[in-house]
Amino acid sequence: MRKKTVGLSLMQTDVIIIGAGASGLMCAGEAGNRGRSVLVLDHCPEAGRKIVVSGGGRCNFSNMFMGPEHFLSGNPDFVRSAISRFTPSDFLCLLEARGIEYQEREAGRLFCKASSTDIKEMLLSECERASVRFRFNCEVSAISRSDLFRIETDQGVFTSQSLVIATGGLSHPGLGAGNFGYLVAKRFGMKVTKLRPALTSVRFSPEDARVFSCLAGVSIHSTVSLGTTSFTGNLLFTHTGASGPAILEISSHWDQKSVLSVDLLPGLDIYSILVGKRSSKALLSTILDQFLPKRFVKVWCALYGAPRPIKEYSPGEIASVARSLHAWPLRIAGVEGFNKAEVTLGGIDTMELSSKTMESKKAPGLYFTGEVIDVTGRLGGYNLHWAWASGHAAGQFA
Ligand SMILES: Cc1cc2nc3c(=O)[nH]c(=O)nc-3n(C[C@H](O)[C@H](O)[C@H](O)COP(=O)(O)OP(=O)(O)OC[C@H]3O[C@@H](n4cnc5c(N)ncnc54)[C@H](O)[C@@H]3O)c2cc1C
Repeated sequence: MRKKTVGLSLMQTDVIIIGAGASGLMCAGEAGNRGRSVLVLDHCPEAGRKIVVSGGGRCNFSNMFMGPEHFLSGNPDFVRSAISRFTPSDFLCLLEARGIEYQEREAGRLFCKASSTDIKEMLLSECERASVRFRFNCEVSAISRSDLFRIETDQGVFTSQSLVIATGGLSHPGLGAGNFGYLVAKRFGMKVTKLRPALTSVRFSPEDARVFSCLAGVSIHSTVSLGTTSFTGNLLFTHTGASGPAILEISSHWDQKSVLSVDLLPGLDIYSILVGKRSSKALLSTILDQFLPKRFVKVWCALYGAPRPIKEYSPGEIASVARSLHAWPLRIAGVEGFNKAEVTLGGIDTMELSSKTMESKKAPGLYFTGEVIDVTGRLGGYNLHWAWASGHAAGQFA
């Protein structure tokens, strides 16, 4: 009997994309629509796992307010070209053409109405229309280059004129993430900036964790600050520290040493409110219960405010209470790691790439898209939009 060699033969194609995630799928459809033959390789059994879990299953796929100020990078202006050539409205046009319903929530955040799977299916059907081929469960063992790129895998050897690395960052290894893209960049002599988890929850110091772990589940609308950077949103206590939008955002800025300052009552002048009640026999805790969750007030008063009626507080003591509520010092032992982080901060140095095409300046024909680049979006759909925009940019040239 003839030995079956299908899948282990040498196959040549115009473009190989490694990574069938958000940016890889966008790039594949775009390159395929230009008439390029495209092959996508992924080591996972299916495409777009992060798209599916994103936004709690509703995929916060973009944001109406798009601009470089919403991105962290060694050079935030790097995103300007790609996001101006592929805008949130461009993505909405794709959804509308397929009848996928979406909604705009606060701060311009765009979500699917039904399920994030709709987006994955939409991208896959764009790829199908553009005759893109896929190989899943495909482990790449070596990449080399002479005239063509030569990709050795456990499913055979593939060659291509252009190679796109769309393998994402380090966060959530269980969804297929790994350091592949960074190794390829280094292999071609490109610089990779420091990598660390971002948009993640924080751990309290052991002393604070002991005191506050009983508050797990309590959420407080707060402004969390680090120097001049601050974010307003919910702060959610967890068993080991804190999470919630304001904390996730500030985690991308934490410098490993500074103490966070939390305004637990943003927009409220608690000093004036307490001074106005100085003739009252009410306990401080009873007054604070009107503004903050009772469980929090109980723990906070045990630390900062003795159980006395407010009329027994001196103006100095009231000022000190107000300071502790408007600038509560939160000592952080660390941020949670890549298992919990939404994204990776850092990546391939933007100096190494063309901001128009995402092509390597050192290795022509080699492109990088999405999270593997040193571009990290704020919470609110910016990371996925970067994946679409950078994938679209590379797909027009690869
Ligand atoms: C839980 C969670 C929720 C999120 N929610 C949102 C959200 O609501 N809005 C938002 O904007 N962003 C969100 N993000 C971030 C967003 O999902 C990513 O930034 C985005 O998917 C990055 O796209 P990418 O194409 O660069 O990489 P990915 O989408 O991660 O795709 C990378 C692909 O490469 C494959 N791959 C990796 N290594 C290899 C290898 N060695 N060989 C072959 N294939 C490989 C992976 O299997 C994967 O398919 C979320 C992230 C997480 C983890």
